[in-house]
Amino acid sequence: MENVIPKLPEEAKCKKCRARGVIRLPSHNTIFCRECFIAFCENGVARAMKKFDIPKGTELLVAVSGGKDSLALWDLLNRLGYATRGIHLDLGIEVFSEASCDAVSDFAALRGLSWTRYSLKENFGWNIEEIRFRIRRAICSICGTIKRQMLNRLAMKEGCEFLVSGHNLDDEAGRLLGNTLRHRTQYIEKQYPFLPAVPGMMPAKAKPLYRLESHELRAYCCFASIRPHGERCPLSRGATSHIVKDALDVLEQKMPGTKRDFYFTYLKNRQAPRSEEREIAICKTCGEPAYMETCSVCTIRAQLLAGRDGGRVEGEDA
Ligand code: SF4
Ligand SMILES: [Zn+2]
Ligand SMILES: [Zn+2]
Repeated sequence: MENVIPKLPEEAKCKKCRARGVIRLPSHNTIFCRECFIAFCENGVARAMKKFDIPKGTELLVAVSGGKDSLALWDLLNRLGYATRGIHLDLGIEVFSEASCDAVSDFAALRGLSWTRYSLKENFGWNIEEIRFRIRRAICSICGTIKRQMLNRLAMKEGCEFLVSGHNLDDEAGRLLGNTLRHRTQYIEKQYPFLPAVPGMMPAKAKPLYRLESHELRAYCCFASIRPHGERCPLSRGATSHIVKDALDVLEQKMPGTKRDFYFTYLKNRQAPRSEEREIAICKTCGEPAYMETCSVCTIRAQLLAGRDGGRVEGEDA
């Protein structure tokens, strides 16, 4: 990954230890040296993990895509002493997926970490490229739905109780803003960086990077010598989630700290949902957890089967 950290003047000093400052964090109105910045990132994850109340000895299954966020997360959890294992879902997106898988493989090999690669095609029947040609819907919405269910299912298969993912503050603030703009109150109410397990059906899911911004994680990868797959997914163009995040970036640039205020003020009034509060039904077709009679993945599968002979099917965007 190219050096993405704007160079600071020679006289810039770390606000914590007065050593040479190498990174400016406008939303915190501060400058850090490399060591204090790494400690700041560790602290961000440690504070999140404390809030989630995950016991230190528990093994965490880290969903690793090969991008900067998930690799930074895996690295930070290891620095903090958590026992971890990686899980990677190969989506079958030409060139991009191979490079993503290589990034995970290189990262894990250098650090002696174990991980498993699962292929979407082998586990679901179609890869993302094939799905894109068969269903006339925004691919990111379909991809997100399938990934969520596959990772749940594979985590249960691996006997894991805690699945952690690399969603950062930009992702969470963007999601909150997107749902707010569309008045999707049913989703807003459910948004929290920790969801407890549904025994026998779903592992607990946590987002330990929710306190750290995207640009901070990019910088962390540089300082910690992590080499993520640097390219954006070629299918992401035009995704509404990216448009909303870009809008938040504009606000952040003019008013540093906007993302933090927006998301953290929301969180202040919320408690982690309790296991018994999770209203989960069982999909009548596949037996997986669902919010309706038929889960969204079975709906997608039915659309794919309807288009099996090459016809594209129309669908509704989630
Ligand atoms: S950008 Fe969209 S298609 Fe690409 S991996 Fe992400 S969700 Fe899937
Ligand atoms: Zn310092
Ligand atoms: Zn189903």
